Parts: sequence; C-alpha cells; structure tokens
Amino acid sequence: GLALLIDKLCRTRSLSLGEYERLIAQRTPGTARELASRADAVRRRVYGTKVFTRGLIEVSSFCKNDCLYCGIRRSNATARRYRLFADEIVKCADTGYDLGFRTFVLQGGEDPFFADDVLCGIIGRIRAAHPDCAVTLSFGERSRKSYERLHEAGAERYLLRHETASPALYRRWHSPEMSLENRMRCLSDLREIGYAVGAGFMVGAPFQTAADLACDLQFIERFQPEMCGIGPFVPHHATPFSAFAPGTAELTCYLLSIIRLIKPNVLLPATTALGTIVPDGRERGILAGANVVMPNLSPVAHRKDYDLYDNKICTGEEAAECRGCLGARMLSIGYELVVDRGDMAPLPEA
Ligand code: SAM
Repeated sequence: GLALLIDKLCRTRSLSLGEYERLIAQRTPGTARELASRADAVRRRVYGTKVFTRGLIEVSSFCKNDCLYCGIRRSNATARRYRLFADEIVKCADTGYDLGFRTFVLQGGEDPFFADDVLCGIIGRIRAAHPDCAVTLSFGERSRKSYERLHEAGAERYLLRHETASPALYRRWHSPEMSLENRMRCLSDLREIGYAVGAGFMVGAPFQTAADLACDLQFIERFQPEMCGIGPFVPHHATPFSAFAPGTAELTCYLLSIIRLIKPNVLLPATTALGTIVPDGRERGILAGANVVMPNLSPVAHRKDYDLYDNKICTGEEAAECRGCLGARMLSIGYELVVDRGDMAPLPEA
C-alpha cells in the first residue's frame, strides 16, 4: 500500500520521482484522507487555524502571450480587454486596507503598457500609503533588470507559476516563443534578487499524467518556493483547449496535502479556480492543508473581463461582499481570516 510512502514523506519531506508518481497514480479515498489529516496537523502546528488573505487586483486583461489554456491569450479576438488606471489600482488597495487586507497582489496579462516605470510608480504609491502592507506582483516573465527595478520600488513577493515542470508538456500548452527554460530563468532571478517567490502548476490540464505531476512535486521539493499556487485547469470556451474536461477538486486537494507535507511552512492558497469547479472548493482546499485565500478586490465593472476560464466565481460581488463571504466560509469549517501581511513562518523541526 501507500502507507509506507506517506510515512516516508512525513518523516523526510522528500520522495523520489517514481514514488511521487505512485502516490498519485495509486491514490484511493483512504490515502487522500490520511494525507489530508497529516497535512492539516502540520499546518495547524505552523499556522494554527489562521488563514491569510491577499487582496487580488487584476490590472490588465491585455496579454502578448498565447497560452493555449488561457482565455485572455492574444489570439482570442472575442476577449474584452481593459486596463486599470493607476488611480483605480491605488483606490482598490485603499478599499482593501479598510477591509483588513495587508497584502495586495497586482496581477495581469503580459501587457507592455505596464512597463517598469508605470509599475514602479504604482508600487511606490501603495507602499507609501500603507507601509504595513506587502505588495506582491504577478505579471509573468520579465527581464532580470525589470525584476530588480520592481523590487527596489518596494515589491517583495512575485507569483510566477511554472505551470508544468515537464518540458514536453510545457511545449504542448504554450506557443513556440515561450519555453520552460525561460520560466525557470525568471524563477531563479526572482529568488536571487530577494523576492519571496511563488511557483505553482495547473492540475488536470490536457495531456497531463501522474508522471508529469510527479515532476511538479519534485520541482517544488527542490526549489522550495515560499508560495505555491495550484489550481485545477478550467476550460475556456474560446481557446484551443475548450473541449477538454476540467481538473478535479479531488486531485487538486490531494496535491495540496502532499505539498504541505513537502514544505510544512509553505504559503498555499485555496484558489479561485478550485472554488469554481465545486461550490465548496476553497473550504476543501483549506481542509486539505492550504492556508491562504485570495479574494478579489478588482473593480466590479471589469471583473468579468479578466476571463481566464469559464464560470469564474466572484465576478459580480463588491470587495466587501467577497471578504465577508470568505470570512463566513472559513468560520463554518473552524478557521478564521486574519488581518496580517501573512509572511512565511519559520520551518518547524522535523
Ligand atoms: N501573466 C501572468 C503569468 O503568466 O504568470 C499572470 C496572469 S496568468 C492569467 C495567472 C494564472 O492563471 C496562470 O499562471 C495560469 O496557471 C492560470 N490560468 C490561466 N488559464 C487557466 C485555465 N484555463 N484554468 C486554470 N487556470 C488558468
């Protein structure tokens, strides 16, 4: 059975590629329960029942990339494109601050409009208005120089999912000008510059196998990212992957538990995509070992247009409603949202 593997994972925080693959391919409801209960215990030891929040501000739906899974890919001529003004972004952060957010995540497609000068100005304004808050960026692949400038302007964290650690699968998901090599170059630049780095991957996306997911887990084990964003693939109707089935909450939660056991202090979000494929997805993610949620702070007028995948939740609600709804959901399962920057805690002893 898998009991010995699970013991080894808990004890050493490490498995071989083949062991990760077996843990995924041979999983049963019983192993899922066992991993979740161990992951929950570890998370309680490091973070208690506190859940960190990050206010997500989706600043642009323009993108120069053409990822085959993504609804805002450049080839999607039906996408409605918008970009927020600097004043609107700062106002979202102000609203978020009053709601108890102490971390703001600025995310967007790879939109050349948001050049370094523009972003540095916005980061500086948010940091000046709210010195007790962290600014996290998620604008995809940029040059090392650019990452340096954004860091100097006051951004301390960067989210850049590696998407898949399998080079062959990476090529099937992306247009030819993108490469896993450059993605990895970005992640190591970010790390060297001093950012807290978020890697991560999609679950159940087209052509993905247990062996591919084992590569992702091994990459997480080796890279030791401060944050790890994983969510199910959700099809978007106007992409080449429109006809593929979505990933499952079951497998996503299983992997969340494993990642918690690989790195007990990792910051692990229960993602919006997980909340989209099943109504209680974010609660299930927290119960599986996640400790972060990222409610939307974007202006309601534009939320529907940050259209990465179909049926995305929370596109009609005001920021205050999103905060309230998630707070109630967390309380219903015995966890609480806290007012905190939510930095990574130290690693507990084995
Ligand atoms: N452009 C930036 C980047 O590449 O990191 C940030 C924005 S990008 C839209 C944010 C994340 O959305 C990606 O890392 C990807 O994993 C996720 N995403 C895109 N399309 C998706 C889909 N169809 N289903 C689930 N997640 C998706």
